Formats: sequence, structure tokens, C-alpha cells
Amino acid sequence: MSLKDPDSLYTSSAQRAAARVKERPTLSIIVPAYNEAEVLDELHRRLSAVIDGLGVTAELIYVNDGSRDATLDILYRLHSADPRVAVLNLSRNFGKEIAMTAGLDHSRGEATVIIDADLQDPPELIPELMTRWSQGYDVVYATRLSRDGESALKKLSARYFYRVIGGMSPIEIPKDTGDFRLLSRRAVDALCRLREQHRFMKGLFAWIGYRQTAVTYHRDRRSAGVTKWNYHKLWGFAIEGITSFSTAPLKAASYVGLITAMTAFLYASWIIYKTLRYGEPVAGYPSLMVAVLFLGGVQLAAIGVLGEYLGRMFNETKGRPLYLVETYERPRQDERDLRC
Ligand code: UDP
Ligand code: MG
Repeated sequence: MSLKDPDSLYTSSAQRAAARVKERPTLSIIVPAYNEAEVLDELHRRLSAVIDGLGVTAELIYVNDGSRDATLDILYRLHSADPRVAVLNLSRNFGKEIAMTAGLDHSRGEATVIIDADLQDPPELIPELMTRWSQGYDVVYATRLSRDGESALKKLSARYFYRVIGGMSPIEIPKDTGDFRLLSRRAVDALCRLREQHRFMKGLFAWIGYRQTAVTYHRDRRSAGVTKWNYHKLWGFAIEGITSFSTAPLKAASYVGLITAMTAFLYASWIIYKTLRYGEPVAGYPSLMVAVLFLGGVQLAAIGVLGEYLGRMFNETKGRPLYLVETYERPRQDERDLRC
């Protein structure tokens, strides 16, 4: 028994577990950050003000998702200035979904809030999220009433994206809701058990179930810096969302195949009848071409859909870790590792 290891002071694992529970901060805040140097100081100032106002114990987990600007330096500065700050530095850019997962894996709070670094999600909404949590909700998500400072096309595509995916997926994914939300301890523990590579977090949040509720807010424009999304990435995100949570495209492919085959059968019957009845001079090149091209197109599209799913299975079977951590500076207020 070494006195250096505080765990060894407890004789039974139940005691140890009880002591750990006592040490949990009330609130963990996870901030995924990719090239956010311009906004971090302001974000931290506003987050700290909110936490101070709440008067709860808290840890702030900033996840550096392979930033190429001064983000990491600023985070280390915040870490040495504020004992509540933890800095999780990933080994490269893994994307926001994975950065959030990494943050969740390291969060220990009774409640955990995920918030964007760019102040588009107002930290001042956190007390309202916590009020709902104290009423017994496990997931309190923030639904946008408006989105400032985003292009009409982005708003429109976002709007339809949430509706299309809602229509296709068997689980209900809340509309116009980003990742800004509060999760109870058991919700975080449940999420930590979902280790799939293709992570559509909005779907995973919905998948876990439990008691969920919404609060509404107006989404501000970015306080500084630029969005990390472009239409290419958004398209990939949409495909990810659909294929991770719905097999509707596979079904659609089979139905299109079935309908085409039936049409072809009827058409063939008609041609046989016509040829027997009237004979057939050499003709029919256009109809032949149309049929061949149409069938070829349908087949390629169906194979493409299959390929999307197969590619995802290929990635899952590799069983790689979701991310690699380069360094983890835990909050200076406690040195104990209590990951889930
Ligand atoms: N982000 C990240 N990794 C990425 C891209 C984005 O951690 O590869 C973070 C980013 O720093 C921000 C949040 O995800 O905190 C949302 O990104 P952004 O504001 O660019 O998205 P938008 O609000 O335009 O949808
Ligand atoms: Mg943003």
C-alpha cells in the first residue's frame, strides 16, 4: 500500500466508488475547439461568469482538435490561470463529433454541458439547462429559434436536413437543434458506451433515450473567426447522419429495383405480343438505348448505396480507437483520474 496513491486508503471498492462520487464536480463543460484562438478568451470569461453565478463546482474541458493556430497556447494559459480548466489535446484534427466524444470520455461532472467555442451558443443559457436538469431531465437540448449571421442557403439546407433525417430515421432526432445541450451523468455514461466510428452525435444523443426536454434560444452569429464547415463537409455530414441512423436508402434501392423490374416485365410482354402479332422490322434502337441506360443508372445507384454502407462496415471492423490523446492536463483543482 503506497500512501502516494490515495485510492489505497480505501479498503473496499464500494468505499472507493463512494469517495469518487463525492469528488465529482457538479458541472463539466466540454468545449471542442479547432482554430478558435480569437474567441477563447472571451468564451472563457463568459463561461467563468456563468459558473461563478451558479456557485457550483465545475470543470471546463477544452478539447484541442488539432488546431493549427495559437489555440493550444491559449488553452495552456487558461489552464495555469484557472484551476478548473482541463486541456485535452488530441493528436490531430479528428472532427467535432470525435472531439466531443473525447470530451465526454473525460468528463466527470454530475451534469455535462457541450458548447461550441465560437459563442454561437450563449453560455448564459446554462443556468436554464441546469434548472431543467434539477427537475429530473437527463438530456436538455437547446433548440434554435433563429440563426443569425448564416447564409440563406445554409439555413435552408440545415432546415431540410433535419426534416429529411427526421423522416428517415426510426428514432426521433429533434429539429433545429445543434450539439449545445446538457447531459446527466447516466446519459454521459450511456454515450460513453457507444463506440462506433461513424458518429452522428445528434442521433446518438437521441438514441440513448431517457427523459429529454428542450429549451429555446436565439443563435447568435460567430463572435470571431470563421466557420469550419463548407458544403462539401456538410454533404458528408448529411450522408453520415442518414447512413448511421437509417437503412431507408437500402430499402429504397430495392424498391426502385423491384419497380423497374416489373415495368421491364410488362414492357417485355408487350413487345413479345406485338412481335408475334405484327412481326418486327428492324427498329427499336431508341427504346433499347433508353432501357439499357435507365437500368444501368438504377443499378449503379443501388450499388453506390450498398457501397456507402459497406464502406462504413469496413471502417467499423478495423476496430481502431476513436481518437488519440497527445496530452491531457487535468484540472489543477484535483489530480485524480476518474474517467468513465
Ligand atoms: N470544431 C472542432 N473540430 C472540427 C471543426 C469544428 O472541434 O474539425 C469545433 C469548432 O471549434 C466549434 C464547433 O466545433 O467550437 C462548431 O464549429 P463551427 O462554428 O465551425 O460550426 P458551425 O457553427 O458553423 O456549424
Ligand atoms: Mg459556429
